[in-house]
Amino acid sequence: MAEIIVVANQKGGVAKTTTTFNLASSLRAMGKRVLAVDFDHQGNLTSCLAKEGKQSIDMTIADLMNICIESEDEMVLPEKSEYIYDCDGVDFIGSNRALSTIEAKLLAEAGGERTLAEIIEPLRDDYDYILIDTNPSLGILTINALAVADDVMITVSPQYFSLEGLDDLIKSIVKVRKRINPKLGISGICLTMCHFRTKLYRRVYQDLMEYTADKIKIFDAKIPYTIKVGESLYAGENVAEYSATSPASIAYQSLAKEVVSCE
Ligand code: ADP
Ligand code: MG
Repeated sequence: MAEIIVVANQKGGVAKTTTTFNLASSLRAMGKRVLAVDFDHQGNLTSCLAKEGKQSIDMTIADLMNICIESEDEMVLPEKSEYIYDCDGVDFIGSNRALSTIEAKLLAEAGGERTLAEIIEPLRDDYDYILIDTNPSLGILTINALAVADDVMITVSPQYFSLEGLDDLIKSIVKVRKRINPKLGISGICLTMCHFRTKLYRRVYQDLMEYTADKIKIFDAKIPYTIKVGESLYAGENVAEYSATSPASIAYQSLAKEVVSCE
Protein backbone atom coordinates (compact mmCIF):
# COMPACT_ATOMS: atom_id res chain seq x y z
CA MET A 1 0.00 0.00 0.00
CA ALA A 2 1.43 3.35 -1.05
CA GLU A 3 2.79 5.96 1.28
CA ILE A 4 1.47 9.33 0.11
CA ILE A 5 4.03 12.13 0.38
CA VAL A 6 3.16 15.73 -0.38
CA VAL A 7 6.05 18.00 -1.35
CA ALA A 8 5.13 21.42 -0.03
CA ASN A 9 6.24 24.95 0.74
CA GLN A 10 4.11 27.99 -0.04
CA LYS A 11 7.23 29.71 -1.31
CA GLY A 12 7.83 29.36 -5.03
CA GLY A 13 11.21 28.44 -6.47
CA VAL A 14 12.34 26.17 -3.63
CA ALA A 15 12.63 23.06 -5.84
CA LYS A 16 9.34 21.35 -4.96
CA THR A 17 8.80 20.29 -8.55
CA THR A 18 12.45 19.42 -9.18
CA THR A 19 12.45 17.31 -6.00
CA THR A 20 9.19 15.54 -6.82
CA PHE A 21 10.49 14.70 -10.29
CA ASN A 22 13.93 13.48 -9.21
CA LEU A 23 12.72 11.71 -6.07
CA ALA A 24 10.11 9.87 -8.17
CA SER A 25 12.72 8.67 -10.65
CA SER A 26 15.19 7.75 -7.89
CA LEU A 27 12.54 5.69 -6.09
CA ARG A 28 11.66 4.05 -9.40
CA ALA A 29 15.34 3.21 -9.95
CA MET A 30 15.20 1.40 -6.59
CA GLY A 31 12.42 -0.77 -8.01
CA LYS A 32 9.55 1.05 -6.26
CA ARG A 33 6.19 1.55 -7.95
CA VAL A 34 5.70 5.31 -8.07
CA LEU A 35 2.86 7.65 -9.00
CA ALA A 36 3.68 11.36 -9.28
CA VAL A 37 0.75 13.78 -9.17
CA ASP A 38 1.09 17.31 -10.50
CA PHE A 39 -1.17 19.40 -8.27
CA ASP A 40 -0.06 22.81 -9.46
CA HIS A 41 -1.90 24.67 -12.22
CA GLN A 42 1.48 25.78 -13.62
CA GLY A 43 1.95 22.18 -14.77
CA ASN A 44 5.74 22.25 -14.34
CA LEU A 45 5.90 18.63 -13.19
CA THR A 46 3.81 17.69 -16.21
CA SER A 47 6.37 19.43 -18.43
CA CYS A 48 9.08 17.31 -16.78
CA LEU A 49 7.23 14.01 -17.17
CA ALA A 50 5.25 14.30 -20.41
CA LYS A 51 7.80 13.19 -22.97
CA GLU A 52 5.63 14.39 -25.82
CA GLY A 53 4.84 17.72 -24.21
CA LYS A 54 2.08 19.00 -21.97
CA GLN A 55 -0.42 19.20 -24.82
CA SER A 56 -0.23 15.40 -25.18
CA ILE A 57 -1.97 15.03 -21.82
CA ASP A 58 -5.69 14.77 -22.58
CA MET A 59 -6.98 14.23 -19.09
CA THR A 60 -5.54 16.05 -16.09
CA ILE A 61 -6.10 16.20 -12.36
CA ALA A 62 -8.38 19.21 -12.98
CA ASP A 63 -10.72 17.03 -15.09
CA LEU A 64 -10.80 14.39 -12.34
CA MET A 65 -11.48 17.03 -9.67
CA ASN A 66 -14.33 18.37 -11.83
CA ILE A 67 -15.89 14.93 -12.19
CA CYS A 68 -15.64 14.54 -8.44
CA ILE A 69 -17.25 17.92 -7.74
CA GLU A 70 -20.05 17.32 -10.23
CA SER A 71 -20.94 13.79 -9.12
CA GLU A 72 -24.05 13.82 -7.02
CA ASP A 73 -24.14 10.18 -6.01
CA GLU A 74 -21.33 7.75 -6.45
CA MET A 75 -18.42 9.15 -8.41
CA VAL A 76 -17.41 7.23 -11.53
CA LEU A 77 -13.94 8.07 -12.77
CA PRO A 78 -12.71 7.16 -16.26
CA GLU A 79 -10.47 4.11 -16.74
CA LYS A 80 -7.06 4.65 -15.10
CA SER A 81 -5.40 4.28 -18.49
CA GLU A 82 -7.16 7.48 -19.56
CA TYR A 83 -5.61 9.68 -16.90
CA ILE A 84 -2.47 7.88 -15.69
CA TYR A 85 0.47 8.37 -18.04
CA ASP A 86 3.91 6.77 -18.02
CA CYS A 87 7.35 8.32 -18.02
CA ASP A 88 10.05 5.64 -18.10
CA GLY A 89 8.32 3.55 -15.47
CA VAL A 90 7.09 6.46 -13.32
CA ASP A 91 3.32 6.81 -13.56
CA PHE A 92 1.93 10.32 -13.39
CA ILE A 93 -1.24 12.39 -13.43
CA GLY A 94 -0.77 15.69 -15.21
CA SER A 95 -2.05 19.17 -14.55
CA ASN A 96 -2.72 22.39 -16.42
CA ARG A 97 -4.21 25.85 -15.99
CA ALA A 98 -7.70 24.45 -15.56
CA LEU A 99 -6.75 23.53 -12.00
CA SER A 100 -6.91 27.19 -10.99
CA THR A 101 -10.62 27.32 -11.89
CA ILE A 102 -11.23 24.37 -9.57
CA GLU A 103 -10.14 26.40 -6.57
CA ALA A 104 -13.28 28.57 -6.46
CA LYS A 105 -15.50 25.51 -6.95
CA LEU A 106 -13.82 23.74 -4.04
CA LEU A 107 -14.44 26.68 -1.73
CA ALA A 108 -18.16 26.49 -2.52
CA GLU A 109 -18.27 22.73 -1.99
CA ALA A 110 -19.23 21.02 1.27
CA GLY A 111 -16.25 18.88 2.27
CA GLY A 112 -14.31 20.33 -0.68
CA GLU A 113 -11.01 19.71 1.10
CA ARG A 114 -11.43 15.93 0.68
CA THR A 115 -11.92 16.00 -3.12
CA LEU A 116 -8.37 14.97 -4.08
CA ALA A 117 -8.52 12.19 -1.49
CA GLU A 118 -11.49 10.66 -3.32
CA ILE A 119 -9.33 10.39 -6.44
CA ILE A 120 -6.03 9.31 -4.88
CA GLU A 121 -7.13 6.94 -2.10
CA PRO A 122 -8.37 4.24 -4.53
CA LEU A 123 -4.91 4.22 -6.18
CA ARG A 124 -3.00 3.35 -3.02
CA ASP A 125 -2.89 -0.38 -3.68
CA ASP A 126 -1.23 0.10 -7.07
CA TYR A 127 1.91 1.85 -5.77
CA ASP A 128 4.63 1.94 -3.13
CA TYR A 129 4.85 5.75 -3.23
CA ILE A 130 2.50 8.48 -4.38
CA LEU A 131 4.24 11.86 -4.55
CA ILE A 132 2.16 15.02 -4.87
CA ASP A 133 3.72 18.27 -6.08
CA THR A 134 1.85 21.33 -4.81
CA ASN A 135 1.40 24.95 -5.81
CA PRO A 136 3.06 27.79 -3.93
CA SER A 137 0.17 28.71 -1.62
CA LEU A 138 -1.59 27.48 1.47
CA GLY A 139 -4.99 27.64 -0.19
CA ILE A 140 -7.67 24.99 -0.62
CA LEU A 141 -5.63 23.06 -3.22
CA THR A 142 -2.72 22.55 -0.84
CA ILE A 143 -5.19 21.67 1.93
CA ASN A 144 -6.61 19.00 -0.42
CA ALA A 145 -3.12 17.56 -0.84
CA LEU A 146 -2.49 17.60 2.92
CA ALA A 147 -5.86 15.95 3.49
CA VAL A 148 -4.83 12.81 1.61
CA ALA A 149 -1.17 12.66 2.63
CA ASP A 150 0.59 10.44 5.11
CA ASP A 151 3.57 12.75 5.22
CA VAL A 152 4.75 16.16 4.10
CA MET A 153 8.24 16.73 2.78
CA ILE A 154 9.08 20.43 3.07
CA THR A 155 11.66 21.70 0.61
CA VAL A 156 13.71 24.64 1.81
CA SER A 157 16.31 26.52 -0.16
CA PRO A 158 18.68 27.99 2.42
CA GLN A 159 18.50 31.69 1.69
CA TYR A 160 17.75 34.78 3.71
CA PHE A 161 13.94 34.70 4.35
CA SER A 162 13.78 30.95 3.82
CA LEU A 163 12.59 30.27 7.37
CA GLU A 164 9.91 32.92 7.14
CA GLY A 165 6.69 31.23 6.22
CA LEU A 166 7.66 27.88 7.76
CA ASP A 167 5.55 28.70 10.82
CA ASP A 168 2.49 29.24 8.62
CA LEU A 169 3.07 25.99 6.76
CA ILE A 170 3.50 24.03 9.99
CA LYS A 171 0.38 25.67 11.47
CA SER A 172 -1.60 24.57 8.40
CA ILE A 173 -0.26 21.03 8.75
CA VAL A 174 -1.23 20.95 12.44
CA LYS A 175 -4.74 22.23 11.64
CA VAL A 176 -5.25 19.70 8.85
CA ARG A 177 -4.07 16.95 11.23
CA LYS A 178 -6.55 18.09 13.88
CA ARG A 179 -9.55 18.68 11.67
CA ILE A 180 -9.28 16.48 8.60
CA ASN A 181 -6.42 13.99 8.55
CA PRO A 182 -5.17 12.68 11.91
CA LYS A 183 -2.49 10.49 10.30
CA LEU A 184 -0.67 13.44 8.69
CA GLY A 185 3.00 13.67 9.65
CA ILE A 186 6.04 15.65 8.57
CA SER A 187 8.64 13.33 7.07
CA GLY A 188 11.21 16.11 7.17
CA ILE A 189 12.82 19.14 5.63
CA CYS A 190 14.79 18.60 2.46
CA LEU A 191 17.39 21.30 1.86
CA THR A 192 17.65 22.12 -1.82
CA MET A 193 19.81 24.37 -3.99
CA CYS A 194 22.51 24.44 -1.32
CA HIS A 195 25.67 26.49 -1.72
CA PHE A 196 27.50 24.53 0.97
CA ARG A 197 30.61 26.64 1.08
CA THR A 198 28.97 29.98 1.74
CA LYS A 199 28.59 31.64 5.13
CA LEU A 200 24.95 32.27 4.30
CA TYR A 201 24.31 28.54 3.93
CA ARG A 202 25.98 27.79 7.26
CA ARG A 203 24.02 30.52 9.05
CA VAL A 204 20.67 29.54 7.62
CA TYR A 205 21.39 25.87 8.38
CA GLN A 206 22.23 26.77 11.97
CA ASP A 207 19.00 28.79 12.27
CA LEU A 208 17.06 25.88 10.82
CA MET A 209 18.60 23.45 13.34
CA GLU A 210 17.54 25.79 16.15
CA TYR A 211 14.11 26.25 14.62
CA THR A 212 13.40 22.54 14.23
CA ALA A 213 15.06 21.74 17.57
CA ASP A 214 15.14 18.02 16.70
CA LYS A 215 11.33 18.01 16.50
CA ILE A 216 11.34 18.02 12.72
CA LYS A 217 13.89 15.90 10.89
CA ILE A 218 16.24 17.53 8.42
CA PHE A 219 17.09 14.93 5.79
CA ASP A 220 20.81 14.02 5.72
CA ALA A 221 20.63 14.17 1.93
CA LYS A 222 21.05 17.83 1.05
CA ILE A 223 20.70 18.77 -2.60
CA PRO A 224 23.55 20.93 -3.89
CA TYR A 225 23.01 23.88 -6.18
CA THR A 226 24.30 22.84 -9.57
CA ILE A 227 23.67 24.04 -13.08
CA LYS A 228 23.25 20.37 -14.07
CA VAL A 229 19.77 20.46 -12.54
CA GLY A 230 18.62 23.35 -14.72
CA GLU A 231 20.31 21.78 -17.74
CA SER A 232 18.68 18.42 -17.11
CA LEU A 233 15.21 20.01 -16.88
CA TYR A 234 15.90 21.88 -20.08
CA ALA A 235 16.90 18.61 -21.73
CA GLY A 236 13.68 16.99 -20.49
CA GLU A 237 15.54 14.51 -18.31
CA ASN A 238 15.92 13.81 -14.62
CA VAL A 239 19.34 14.68 -13.30
CA ALA A 240 20.43 11.02 -13.01
CA GLU A 241 19.75 10.49 -16.73
CA TYR A 242 21.43 13.75 -17.65
CA SER A 243 24.49 13.39 -15.47
CA ALA A 244 24.57 10.27 -13.31
CA THR A 245 27.70 11.35 -11.46
CA SER A 246 26.60 14.89 -10.70
CA PRO A 247 26.36 15.68 -6.98
CA ALA A 248 22.64 16.49 -7.32
CA SER A 249 21.97 13.08 -8.85
CA ILE A 250 23.83 11.35 -6.02
CA ALA A 251 22.02 13.50 -3.44
CA TYR A 252 18.58 12.65 -4.86
CA GLN A 253 19.48 8.94 -4.75
CA SER A 254 20.46 9.35 -1.09
CA LEU A 255 17.20 11.18 -0.41
CA ALA A 256 15.26 8.28 -1.96
CA LYS A 257 17.14 5.80 0.24
CA GLU A 258 16.32 7.88 3.33
CA VAL A 259 12.67 8.03 2.36
CA VAL A 260 12.59 4.24 1.93
CA SER A 261 14.43 3.70 5.22
CA CYS A 262 11.76 5.78 7.05
CA GLU A 263 9.06 3.25 6.07
P1 ADP B 1 9.16 25.14 -7.10
O1 ADP B 1 8.44 23.95 -7.64
O2 ADP B 1 9.32 25.10 -5.60
O3 ADP B 1 8.58 26.44 -7.54
P2 ADP B 1 11.24 24.41 -8.99
O4 ADP B 1 11.44 22.95 -8.75
O5 ADP B 1 10.41 24.82 -10.15
O6 ADP B 1 10.67 25.11 -7.66
O7 ADP B 1 12.69 25.05 -9.07
C1 ADP B 1 12.86 26.44 -9.29
C2 ADP B 1 14.08 26.68 -10.16
O8 ADP B 1 15.25 26.28 -9.47
C3 ADP B 1 14.04 25.89 -11.46
O9 ADP B 1 14.44 26.75 -12.49
C4 ADP B 1 15.05 24.78 -11.27
O10 ADP B 1 15.71 24.47 -12.47
C5 ADP B 1 16.01 25.40 -10.27
N1 ADP B 1 16.61 24.37 -9.38
C6 ADP B 1 15.97 23.47 -8.63
N2 ADP B 1 16.85 22.71 -7.94
C7 ADP B 1 18.08 23.15 -8.27
C8 ADP B 1 19.42 22.76 -7.90
N3 ADP B 1 19.65 21.76 -7.05
N4 ADP B 1 20.44 23.43 -8.45
C9 ADP B 1 20.22 24.45 -9.32
N5 ADP B 1 19.01 24.87 -9.71
C10 ADP B 1 17.93 24.22 -9.20
MG1 MG C 1 6.68 23.86 -8.77
